[in-house]
Amino acid sequence: QAKQAGRSNYRVFNEQMLESASRRLMLEQDIRIALKERQLALAMQPILTMDDNRLVGFEALVRWYHPNRGLVMPSEFIQEVDESKEGVELGNYVLEYAIDLLARYTRQLGSDQFYVAVNLSPNQYMSADLVKYLQGLLERYRIHPSRLVLELTEESLIKNLDRAMAIMQQLKSMGVRIAIDDFGTGYSSLSYLKQLPFDLLKVDRGFVADLDNSDVDRNIVTSVIDLAHNLKRQVVAEGVESHDQRQFLRQIGCDYAQGYLFSAPLDEHQTQVLLAQLDEQLRWPDDERGVQL
Ligand code: C2E
Ligand code: MG
Ligand code: MG
Ligand code: MG
Repeated sequence: QAKQAGRSNYRVFNEQMLESASRRLMLEQDIRIALKERQLALAMQPILTMDDNRLVGFEALVRWYHPNRGLVMPSEFIQEVDESKEGVELGNYVLEYAIDLLARYTRQLGSDQFYVAVNLSPNQYMSADLVKYLQGLLERYRIHPSRLVLELTEESLIKNLDRAMAIMQQLKSMGVRIAIDDFGTGYSSLSYLKQLPFDLLKVDRGFVADLDNSDVDRNIVTSVIDLAHNLKRQVVAEGVESHDQRQFLRQIGCDYAQGYLFSAPLDEHQTQVLLAQLDEQLRWPDDERGVQL
C-alpha cells in the first residue's frame, strides 16, 4: 500500500514538475515574442497628495496584451519571468517605456512637477548594469533623476540586504528616488529601516483595506506613518478605495494616496484625457463624479 502510494506520489510529483517546467518554457518563449512585438504596455495609476488632492506621480504597472489570451495581469507572469533570463530584458523594457511616457506627459502637461514610479524585480536590481542603463535612459530622454521613483518590495530587500543596500546607495547618489513597496508584509527590522536610503514608504493595501473595521490595523498604520516621519520619510497609502479610508489616513498625516477611490490604473488614452483636465497646480478635478474618462 505504502509503496504504491509512494510510487504514485512520485509520479504525480514528476508530472507536476514537467508541467511547470514546460509551462515556464512556453512563458519564456511567449515573453520573448511579447517583447519583440511590443505586446507589453504600461498602465499608469495616479498618486495624489492627501491634503490637497494634487497629482504627484504615476505608478507604472505592466500589462500584457496577448494576441490569444487577451489582457494578462502581472501577477500571472512577472515573478516567473523575473526568475528566467528574460527578466532583466523585461525590466529594461519597462524602464524605458515608463521614462518615455514620463517625457511625453511632461510635454503634454507643460509641467515637470510629477514623477513616474517603476517596480523593480529583485533580479533586475541585482544586475550589475542597472545603474549604467538608467543613467543612459535619463540622459537620452532628458529626465531629471529625481523624477524617477524605483519601487523595491520590502520582502525582496530583506532577502538581499547587502546587495540591495549597495545598489540603493548608488541609485541615491544618482539622484533617483526609492520607495519601499508593500511595506508591512516583509519583516524588516527597525535597524535595517534606519540604514536603508529610501525616500518613500508604501503601506501595503492589506492594511488599508481593513482600516474601517480593525482597531489593530488603524493602530499599525498610524505607527508606521509616525515611524516614517520620524525617519524623515514620506508615506504613500496603497489601495485607497473609500472616503472613510481616505479621511482616516488624512487625519493621521499620511502624505500621499493611491487607489480606486481616485483612479484605477489608466491606459495611454485615459491618461491623456486625465492630464487634459488638470490645472497648472495639477489639482485633481474635484467634482463629485471624479475624473471623467
Ligand atoms: P504593486 O506594486 O503593489 O502595485 C499595486 C497593485 O495594486 C496593482 O496591481 C494595482 O492595480 C493594484 N491596485 C491599485 N489600487 C488599488 C485599489 O484601490 N484596490 C485594489 N484592490 N487594488 C489596487 P497590478 O497592476 O495587478 O500589479 C500587481 C503587482 O505586480 C504589483 O504590485 C507589482 O508588484 C507587480 N508589477 C506590476 N508591474 C510591474 C513591473 O513593471 N515590474 C515588476 N517587476 N513588477 C510589476
Ligand atoms: Mg508598486
Ligand atoms: Mg505595492
Ligand atoms: Mg502591493
